[in-house]
Amino acid sequence: MKLVFATHNSNKFKEVNALMPSYIELVSLTDIGCHEDIAETATTIEGNAQIKADYVTNKYQLPCFADDTGLLVDALDGAPGVYSARFAGEEKSAEDNMNKLIALLKEQATRTAHFKTVIAYNTQKETLLFEGLAIGHILQEKRGTNGFGYDPIFQPEGYQETFAELSLDIKNKISHRAKAIEKFVSFLKTTS
Ligand code: IMP
Repeated sequence: MKLVFATHNSNKFKEVNALMPSYIELVSLTDIGCHEDIAETATTIEGNAQIKADYVTNKYQLPCFADDTGLLVDALDGAPGVYSARFAGEEKSAEDNMNKLIALLKEQATRTAHFKTVIAYNTQKETLLFEGLAIGHILQEKRGTNGFGYDPIFQPEGYQETFAELSLDIKNKISHRAKAIEKFVSFLKTTS
């Protein structure tokens, strides 16, 4: 079965493709000739995943899934959440985003936060959502150079290291995205 993963990110594509059951032929947006940057205009993580999946399903009439992720900080009532990528501005600078978050949480005792990934999967009949969470807390300074985004200031529960200090191998086993993908792949395996 041909299934579109609505992403332009080749690293994400490879990571997910390696986990797909053998009956799935995973194709990317580039593979189907879709070069647009699909505007993520929803006010929720679920909504943005849905927008991207719907765009492809409506335009190309193909089964499709899309993911969207945000970092939700408890002391900030769930911010930056759906706005995680552009928290400090449209340049989407990871450094600026982390600096803004560190400043906002200065002297804040409650530092708990979680990453949330939602996968929206459009089958021929309906939309299904799969969610993955990574719980942890936000540090006062950056540590580590692996990964991307907020990784240097996010310490997952049960680990002494930040996501940016853990190897990619370990992060890919415990991350929000890994958990959402795991649920999605288990579902695909039951429907094959
Ligand atoms: P996206 O929906 O995967 O593009 O993620 C949106 C934003 O959330 C990214 O631009 C990052 O700022 C942040 N983010 C998503 N996943 C991660 C992660 O695994 N580590 C750190 N930051 C992340």
